[in-house]
Amino acid sequence: MRIDLHTHSDASDGTQPPADVVASAAAAGLDVVALTDHDTSAGWAEAVAAGERLGVRVLPGVEISCLQRGISVHLLSYLHDPAHHALAALLDGSRTSRLTRARSMVERLGVDTGLTWEDVLAQVHGDATVGRPHIADALVAKGLVPDRDEAFATWLSGRSRYFVPHSAPDPLEAVRLVREAGGVPVLAHPAASKRGSCIGDTDIDEMVDAGLLGLEVDHRDHSEDERAHLRDVAAGLGLLVTGSSDYHGAGKKNLIGENLTSPDVLEGVLAAAGPAAPGRGRHVLDA
Ligand code: AMP
Ligand code: ZN
Ligand code: FE
Ligand code: FE
Repeated sequence: MRIDLHTHSDASDGTQPPADVVASAAAAGLDVVALTDHDTSAGWAEAVAAGERLGVRVLPGVEISCLQRGISVHLLSYLHDPAHHALAALLDGSRTSRLTRARSMVERLGVDTGLTWEDVLAQVHGDATVGRPHIADALVAKGLVPDRDEAFATWLSGRSRYFVPHSAPDPLEAVRLVREAGGVPVLAHPAASKRGSCIGDTDIDEMVDAGLLGLEVDHRDHSEDERAHLRDVAAGLGLLVTGSSDYHGAGKKNLIGENLTSPDVLEGVLAAAGPAAPGRGRHVLDA
């Protein structure tokens, strides 16, 4: 079984509609794919329907942007109840703050580049979760940079004077709410130091006390040494160990299925989902 537990569609900052992400999963020979858009479950229904047509099991998820002491922490959640009030409110709050933040960045960028909010909106599909990748696409469309990578290395970098942070929940609070909503929380790319500072092992301990159930270990932003260390940490804490592509369509070099999760771990994820989980992952188990 080939299982990839972290992908993005144009419901956030991927470049393909959810059904096309699932089609790409099928083309790559995947049996199971999780759709984990940033701070939204808007793509779930389309992805699950496409999975039924294409014979790919779709695991519904999200990637929740959190902040701890100014450090960016991404939390994956699988199979939570999307109607859970407090979790839905937390995700809505993040999405709203992302909009305000993107407008501020565009105002700053506009002074020097002429970039407008309309330029950015032209890159956003429907009410997708807005992120820097959409601003990057607008800079590409204006001919200011060749691709998203270059935009992130320059105008949009966390060190750029155009950068504005968005407010984001505390990871411990997010883990608790995910569990309350019947979901399975897994810490995304915990050691991706190329992106910026990372939290330490004691922070992971605290997240486990709050209910964290897994670590994403096999991810292209982790070195071999980082993976070995994270595997030790996971073994010591009895955590699930996942591997995933973090596919964004054409928006990033990550190829769907480039890192995989073992069938035992998928079983563990399904078994840990609470009764509030959508169909308790029925479409994932049955197909
Ligand atoms: P934001 O959440 O708006 O701060 O934007 C960060 C998102 O942009 C991350 O979730 C990544 O998926 C994406 N990203 C980060 N670096 C790059 C890059 N070099 N090229 C394309 N996308 C990137
Ligand atoms: Zn992204
Ligand atoms: Fe992430
Ligand atoms: Fe991601």
